[in-house]
Amino acid sequence: MKAEIIAVGTEILTGQIVNTNAQFLSEKLASLGIDVYFQTAVGDNADRLLSVLAIARDRSDLVILTGGLGPTEDDLTKQTLAQFLGKDLTFDSEAMAKLDRFFDSRPDHVRTPNNLRQAQIVTGSTPLQNLTGLAVGGLIEVEGVSYVVLPGPPSELKPMVNDELVPLLATGEKLYSRVLRFFGIGESQLVTVLADVIDGQSDPTVAPYAKTGEVTLRLSTKASSQEQADQKLDQLEQVILQHETLDAQPLRQLFYGYGDDNSLAKVAFELLCERGLTLTAAESLTAGMFQSTLANFSGASAVLPGGFVTYSIEEKSKMLQIPLAELQEHGVVSAHTAERMAAQARLLTGADYGVSLTGVAGPDSLEGHPAGTVFIGIAGPKGARSIKVNIAGRSRMDVRKVAVLHAFNLVRKTVLLDENLL
Ligand code: ATP
Repeated sequence: MKAEIIAVGTEILTGQIVNTNAQFLSEKLASLGIDVYFQTAVGDNADRLLSVLAIARDRSDLVILTGGLGPTEDDLTKQTLAQFLGKDLTFDSEAMAKLDRFFDSRPDHVRTPNNLRQAQIVTGSTPLQNLTGLAVGGLIEVEGVSYVVLPGPPSELKPMVNDELVPLLATGEKLYSRVLRFFGIGESQLVTVLADVIDGQSDPTVAPYAKTGEVTLRLSTKASSQEQADQKLDQLEQVILQHETLDAQPLRQLFYGYGDDNSLAKVAFELLCERGLTLTAAESLTAGMFQSTLANFSGASAVLPGGFVTYSIEEKSKMLQIPLAELQEHGVVSAHTAERMAAQARLLTGADYGVSLTGVAGPDSLEGHPAGTVFIGIAGPKGARSIKVNIAGRSRMDVRKVAVLHAFNLVRKTVLLDENLL
C-alpha cells in the first residue's frame, strides 16, 4: 500500500511550527508495513488543497490529512475534502454528544455555530473519535483510495491514530529491521561489493548508512511475526557476510555487532566484562579519549584500573619507564614504541590487556609521517603486537576519534583471537 501524508496549515509553510505530525505518522505507518511515498505541506487554502488532493489521488492508496479540523473559517480540511469527493458533511452523533457535554459542563464557554463544524464528518466516513479534543476525524474510501482526516494538535492526533486509526489500518504485517555494523570498510566499498544484494533487493530491503569511521546496513522486511522476520533476515545476513572486500577480506571479519545504538567501544567493553578482564591504556595523540570513552559505561571500574596520558617523549619515558634513548632510536610514531607503551602500561597496572595509541593527529607531519598515521599497540597474555593505520584526509579531531575506534576494534579482535574465536 502506498501512503501519502498531507499536512494542512499555513503555520507549517511559514516555519512557525515543525511538521512533527508527518514524522510521527511516517514512523507509525512504517511499523504497520505501509510505505509512505510522499509528504506534502499545504497552506490553509481550499484551491491549493484541492490541487494537492488531485495529485495524491492519482499516486497513492492511502491519503492522510492532518490539521484544519478546528471551528474557525480557516479550518477547511473536511469541507475541502467533501468538495473534492463530491460529498456532503454530516454530523457524527457521538462527536455531537461530546460537544454538548463539553459546553454543558462549562457554562462560561460561549458556544458558537462554528463549534458544530468540529462534530462533522464527510458523509460515508467511519468516524475517528477524538479522545483528547473536540474535532472528530474520519476515514473514507472512494474509488479505491482511502482518505483520513486527523486533527492538527499532536496531543489530539496521536491518541486518535493509536486508538482509532491503527486498528482500521493494521494488515497483520509489520516492519521488522536489523542493523548490521561494520568497521574497517567505507560505505562506497561496502555498497560496491554488495552490489548484487543491493541492486536486486525488494524484500528484505538493504539500506547503507555511513558514520564517522564506520558503516551500518539496515535490513528491513515485512512479516507477520518476529520469527518469520528473523528467518528472512538471518538468510540475508548470511549472504551478506559471505561477501568479501575488494582486497579479499571476508566481510564477516569486519562485522562487529547489531543495533542502532551499539558501538565498537560498547562491544569491546562488554567482551571484557563478560570475561572479567581488565584493560589499561597509554595514550599519546588521543590524550585520554580512549579511557574517557571506556569510562562512559557504567561498571567501567571493573574493567579500567587506570592508565596513562603520555603526550611528550619525556613523559612516555618517565611514566611508562621506557629508556629515552630507545624511544629516540625507534621514534615515537613507530610500531616498536606502540608495542612498548602497551606492554609497559599493562605491566605497571597489572591489567590483563594494555592498549596504546601514538601517531600524528595533524595537520602537520611528524618524524616524516604524514598526518593521520597512527600506531596502535596491544599487549596481552600472548604478547604484544601493533597495527599501523592511515586516517587520511580528516580533521585533527576526527583522526583522534577514528584512532580510538581502531583501538577498540583491536581490543575486540585480540580478545576473540586469544580465545580462537575469530
Ligand atoms: P484546532 O482545533 O486546535 O484548530 P486543527 O485540527 O484545526 O486544531 P490546526 O489549526 O491546523 O489544527 O493546528 C492547531 C495546532 O496544532 C497548531 O498551532 C500546531 O501547534 C499544531 N499542529 C498543526 N499541524 C501540525 C503538524 N503538522 N505538526 C505538528 N503540529 C501541528
